[in-house]
Amino acid sequence: MVDLKSQYEKIKATVDASIQEVLDTTTYINGPKVHEFQKNLEQYLDVKHVIPCANGTDALQIAMMGLDLKPGDEVITADFTFAATVEVIALLQLTPVLVDVDLVNMNISIDAIKKAITPKTKAIVPVHLFGRAANMEAIMRIANEHNLYVIEDNAQAIGANCKFSDGTKKKAGTIGHVASTSFFPSKNLGCYGDGGAIFTNDDALAHKIRGIVNHGMYVRYHHDVVGVNSRLDSIQAAVLDAKLPFLDQYSQARQDAARKYSKAFESHANIVAPTICDICDCHVFHQYTLRITNGKRDQLMEHLQSKGIPCAIYYPIPLHSQKAYIDSRYKEEDFPVTNQLVKEVISLPMHTELDDEQIEFITNSVLEFFK
Ligand SMILES: *Cc1c(COP(=O)(O)O)cnc(C)c1O
Repeated sequence: MVDLKSQYEKIKATVDASIQEVLDTTTYINGPKVHEFQKNLEQYLDVKHVIPCANGTDALQIAMMGLDLKPGDEVITADFTFAATVEVIALLQLTPVLVDVDLVNMNISIDAIKKAITPKTKAIVPVHLFGRAANMEAIMRIANEHNLYVIEDNAQAIGANCKFSDGTKKKAGTIGHVASTSFFPSKNLGCYGDGGAIFTNDDALAHKIRGIVNHGMYVRYHHDVVGVNSRLDSIQAAVLDAKLPFLDQYSQARQDAARKYSKAFESHANIVAPTICDICDCHVFHQYTLRITNGKRDQLMEHLQSKGIPCAIYYPIPLHSQKAYIDSRYKEEDFPVTNQLVKEVISLPMHTELDDEQIEFITNSVLEFFK
């Protein structure tokens, strides 16, 4: 699904030198590399504050801890996403409210958000799923009307743009009150271990979060709030700082591969390929995900695997059906799109190193299955 080795080989000298600097200075924790990467990412995203932390799940949890949410407050999020999103809501004793997604962009449905709002609703967590920016303009409008926080889960879409009707563009993860991302190796900006970060434009919230990641400490050995220990280590920061200058190039390589895939599947009777917008970079293709509409998704998967082509189902089970998150309030008819997507989606190999020969082999293999 990914090819981290070829990617590393191309930038080996830069990455190795960056790591070597950390080794030479032995500043393994909170070293200058962490600060440099933080500043460079703030500039890249055009966001006031980046707060690095240990992983994307922590980032989401810490972002929520920074807001004044109380046990029992309802937090609306998408039914079709990775479990981390709903997990941290539940861990903080907030009440997750899972809602359906949109069939075309696979992101949280605006209508479903509107229907789910109650007097207890305090926040919305849109996930920019598979690398495609959610409809942040509509989400912020609803949030402003109802006085809700917006926490963007941007683990999959770093570098993607959100476009607004007045023509402006902003990076995904810089629009809500706070956002989280993951630097897991296979994410679009991945380190060589675990890593994550929180983004916000709110100075007071950034200050609060900087304490939370460090045991709730603002003055040494004074613990003002209950915090956690969540750090990005310097070696991971060194890798990320070396890779950040390539992020736009990497996004483009993913978009180029997606364009070639989608061209091959164009107007096929049983395949719905993701649409690619040529102007706004609203999709950075963390995953390239097809919908197979003739009920033969699983057979296609077997066919591809028999040819040695990796593929995956993200995600096979809706969160509302997961044992940990079942809730008597959910009705199956509230999730028609998620229930459809879990049966139809299949993700093909997607990374920065796909060449034309590989793409042709993969698309031909998909197409021959339907013949
Ligand atoms: C990867 C991911 C996370 C969690 O990131 P980790 O660094 O693995 O903790 C959270 N949300 C989404 C949508 C993800 O894809």
